[in-house]
Amino acid sequence: MESIPLVHASLGERELAAVKEVFASEWPAGQGPRGKALERELAGHFGVGEAVALSSCAAALHLSLLALGAGPGDEVIVADYTFPAPAHAVRYVDADPIFADVRADTGTIDPEAVADLIGPRTAGVIAVDTVGLPADYAELKSITDRHGLFLVEDAACAVGATYQGRPAGALAPVACLSFHGRKGITSGEGGALLTGDQALAANVRLRSSFGIGGIAEQARVIGLPIPEFTETGYNYKLSDIAAAILQVQLGRIEELLDRRRTVAARYAELLKDEELVTLPHVPDDRTHAWQSYILMLDPGVDRAAVAADLRAQGIGCGHGTWASHLQPVYETDQKCPVSADLFQRGLAIPMHAELTPNQVERVVDVLRAALRAHAGPHTA
Ligand SMILES: *Cc1c(COP(=O)(O)O)cnc(C)c1O
Repeated sequence: MESIPLVHASLGERELAAVKEVFASEWPAGQGPRGKALERELAGHFGVGEAVALSSCAAALHLSLLALGAGPGDEVIVADYTFPAPAHAVRYVDADPIFADVRADTGTIDPEAVADLIGPRTAGVIAVDTVGLPADYAELKSITDRHGLFLVEDAACAVGATYQGRPAGALAPVACLSFHGRKGITSGEGGALLTGDQALAANVRLRSSFGIGGIAEQARVIGLPIPEFTETGYNYKLSDIAAAILQVQLGRIEELLDRRRTVAARYAELLKDEELVTLPHVPDDRTHAWQSYILMLDPGVDRAAVAADLRAQGIGCGHGTWASHLQPVYETDQKCPVSADLFQRGLAIPMHAELTPNQVERVVDVLRAALRAHAGPHTA
């Protein structure tokens, strides 16, 4: 029986060749020639002034909040239905995450919920492009501008997606990307911060490197310059090995996304009459990067049993993403009923750029049988 993984990173010979070149160079560490080149290419690709290559999206979120001045006593409103990195980042700076519920049709942060949560301690908002689908930035930006709040885009899953014709990653004044192995383009682990604000980018770059500037450049200067530590920075640099991989991956965004789009379109076609699932909805003004393909099961379906059947047949699946406010670490009384419902009913089925048409059909065949076997008495 052939197994069909839920996710698969499309890394190949070209990425290997790029790594080999770094091995032959003098600088495998971060902020070297590869990292600098990647930053220029990222800024160009996304049409933003500045890109800072970082070790992860979590690092990018952390440094954005520091650079934006969020700290103890502040509240930061975060999208609830997501991998909970945004709320974690708010905790890193000793501020308080406030969870905003999401739209039932898209799973993205609900602008009305954001507006309702703004109070005297609110410093800003972190919106998430949920598993690759951009949030409502026109509405969000008008709310944050009106209240003098910052707006950060967590575009971890959304490389290649668009909103009103603009690329995800350039939809808010500060955006954070992930290049983790489960995202659309990857270097295993990795991330970046994108912004039009030069001072903010410089601040983030400094804090990503122990609070000391440009070691790679210093090494080339004649004489004995002794760089100074001006911040208690972190080590959040992306290695030049990872940067070299990402330079190749950046050139493959459209190719890889096209293949994911084909898979999504085929799932939608094959499942369009299946009354026990709701397919992902993509509003007309945006496109999806398809980091995940999450179906919402009819409430009467036993999700765990369906997942067990899929896995027994070698088909990878998962619950999708999380209702952040329900995670024990946050100990909150807040309620986000829409997010909680999506968290309970979601089923992620295989989505990556290497899936074949036959595999997609097999996933759907096994899924249909499992749904019939585990639909409750009150389901359609
Ligand atoms: C994966 C993910 C992250 C974390 O990215 P890392 O690069 O692993 O830190 C952050 N936010 C969202 C929405 C994610 O899906």
